[in-house]
Amino acid sequence: MDRKQRMIGEIEEEVRSTVGYTGRARLRTGVLEAMTAVPREEFVPPNLREQAYENVPLPIGQGQTISQPFIVALMTDLLEPEPGHRILEVGTGCGYQAAVLAELVQEVYSVEAIPGLGEAARERLKRLGYGNVSVRVADGNRGWPEAAPFDGIVVTAGAREVPVALVEQLAPGGRLVLPLEGPDAGQDIQVVTKDSEGARTSQPILPVAFVPLIHPGVPG
Ligand code: SAH
Repeated sequence: MDRKQRMIGEIEEEVRSTVGYTGRARLRTGVLEAMTAVPREEFVPPNLREQAYENVPLPIGQGQTISQPFIVALMTDLLEPEPGHRILEVGTGCGYQAAVLAELVQEVYSVEAIPGLGEAARERLKRLGYGNVSVRVADGNRGWPEAAPFDGIVVTAGAREVPVALVEQLAPGGRLVLPLEGPDAGQDIQVVTKDSEGARTSQPILPVAFVPLIHPGVPG
């Protein structure tokens, strides 16, 4: 079995072992196909290429990480992506989650706060032929107003509260998937949905530990 197939097997196993939390015993076939299609070794630092297909997060510089493959797959599945969708990602990092989404939907908009990471991800995604991903260096708490509304929004850093702009930029029926800090300081991946009347509901899915969402320009 090659290492990519082994990674998919490990994702499927972790999906089964977390079903008590997520209610999902399996992920959409399309999500696993997208995870198979993206060359993860292109997104990790050269010295970590050997570990690219292990089901673990890895450092990508600037104190940031590329998320664990299982978490990328789960968050992608929670977005319920459709081929015609336009998706916003907050926290481009190395661009891996954006590439997985780009395999599944029409357009991906991704915002990264750290210029060095955002620019490198933009170059990488272009080089790998992901022409349907746009990367912007900015504060993702503000979303990407000019490109809104989005069918789905995924935040890949832990938020203390749901950023208001992101709810505003979500299309009716759209899904916002984010790690959110709870009252006890632990984090859960949550799915926030907005119905056609604009009413919000949120559902906790799984306890996680993401690096915090930063608030550039805000002291403290
Ligand atoms: N999705 C990434 C994971 C990145 S880790 C991947 O597939 O590799 C989280 C990222 O969120 C980091 O790159 C961090 O710099 C970025 N980030 C944190 N706060 C942010 C903010 N307010 N706006 C945009 N990006 C932010």
